[in-house]
Amino acid sequence: MPSLIRHYINGQFVETEKRFQNINPLNGRLVSEVCEASQAEVDAAVKAARAAMDGSWGRMPVAERAQWMHRIADGIEARFEEFVAAEVADTGRPVKQARTLDVPRGIANFRFFGDLIKTAHTECFETTTASGDRALNYTVRKPLGVIAAISPWNLPMLLFSWKVAPALAMGNAIVAKPSEEAPSSAALLAQVMHDIGLPAGVFNLVNGLGGGSTGEFMTSHPGIDAVTFTGESRTGSHIMKAVADGVKDISFELGGKNAAIVFADADFDKAVDGVLRSSFTNSGQVCLCSERVLVQRPIFERFVAALKEKTEALRLGWPMDEDTDIGPQISKEHQQKVLSYFELAREEGATVVTGGQVPVFGDERDQGSWVQPTIWTGLPDSARCLREEVFGPVCHIAPFDTEEEAVARANDSAYGLAAAIWTQDITRAHNVAQRMRAGLVWINTWYLRDLRTPFGGVRLSGIGREGGRHSMDFYSETTNICVKL
Ligand code: NAD
Repeated sequence: MPSLIRHYINGQFVETEKRFQNINPLNGRLVSEVCEASQAEVDAAVKAARAAMDGSWGRMPVAERAQWMHRIADGIEARFEEFVAAEVADTGRPVKQARTLDVPRGIANFRFFGDLIKTAHTECFETTTASGDRALNYTVRKPLGVIAAISPWNLPMLLFSWKVAPALAMGNAIVAKPSEEAPSSAALLAQVMHDIGLPAGVFNLVNGLGGGSTGEFMTSHPGIDAVTFTGESRTGSHIMKAVADGVKDISFELGGKNAAIVFADADFDKAVDGVLRSSFTNSGQVCLCSERVLVQRPIFERFVAALKEKTEALRLGWPMDEDTDIGPQISKEHQQKVLSYFELAREEGATVVTGGQVPVFGDERDQGSWVQPTIWTGLPDSARCLREEVFGPVCHIAPFDTEEEAVARANDSAYGLAAAIWTQDITRAHNVAQRMRAGLVWINTWYLRDLRTPFGGVRLSGIGREGGRHSMDFYSETTNICVKL
């Protein structure tokens, strides 16, 4: 892993004077110094991307581009353990997660879109007017242009590649910025792109912060055609303002305050295990996590007790231990944010069923950014802790009586990303799923993904959909051609 993370612009690694530090949240140690891109580097990256678009990349046959996608995937695979180490060092996530989810998904994203672009469809209509004119309308699909991709820290490799792969596969050139909190796997990806000889300017990496820094230089740049962004809803709102003057295309994957509904007829053990996963995976730092759990009254007490027991058995530990379940929060700043909600929950009248503290290890982890997995009960639906995204290992469990009530309370949120429903009544499952005001609904499971399916949220949770043909549609433009016959 490089101790200095540089930019990658027009096929060259570029060092700049201004730097920030990448800190390991496990123990507060320095992972790397990171160069911060100024307006000048963003200008250079956009210029290089435009030149690549206007050159051979923008006109490359699909089959050839597909081969590049597979070469990138092969390049990641060849350095698999380096990517795993980068993800673990930046985030403190358990190595088993990096090995089984984050890096494999990064590889899969390139392979998947490399294959999918061969199926990109266009339309054709034969037209006859009332006066007898005949015409053939056909649509051609073209790359969208120079894409700014900005990603968050919570699943660095998975989410960064989820933007870079479809954008490149559809023939665009990209200026990409990973989160300042987790830049290492994106830096390795730049190395892969370089080593396989991807044409200069097609993939440009700039590192930096968000507002008033690299992120804002990107979104306000007149040479950018579209912005694909994953992060906080508030940041999405800032970016919308930045792109408004240029009326640029946007794809936004934003925050969530997701509900899980557990009916009394659910398979109890599976529901407990499912909610355990959906609340605490990645230390609660997944946009899809369930922070609001609604449990039907007859099983409420039993459910709370069972979830408490399983939560207390989760192992907070060293990331390299295969049996570690929970890592730290990404940073001291984020730890403080989560702790401020722990405090607020007490003020708002929560009962802390378990957790609510900073764990004490008696070793170097005490310098890291840890919080205990936490369960609350007893908050009113109006509590800020139930309306704002915490993005930490915490859930609130509330009882409900009727299906109607559960649907209304689950939908009572400014967000609308995901929901999970636990029931063995098949009719109820489908009815409730269709009534969820969310982009994604899981029945008797959580976070089971097929890359062909649409992914995204409603309301504060985002604009547009990614995945399969939805990504292909976002990352391309169509031109309709009408031929008089
Ligand atoms: P964030 O919004 O703070 O930062 C995300 C990225 O945006 C970073 O690269 C940051 O540097 C950049 N940025 C910040 N301000 C900017 C600005 N004004 N202009 C341009 N760029 C700017 O989010 P985060 O804390 O990194 O990530 C956590 C958030 O992401 C949570 O809200 C989570 O729910 C959300 N998220 C959503 C999804 C999804 O698919 N819906 C997936 C993962 C994370």
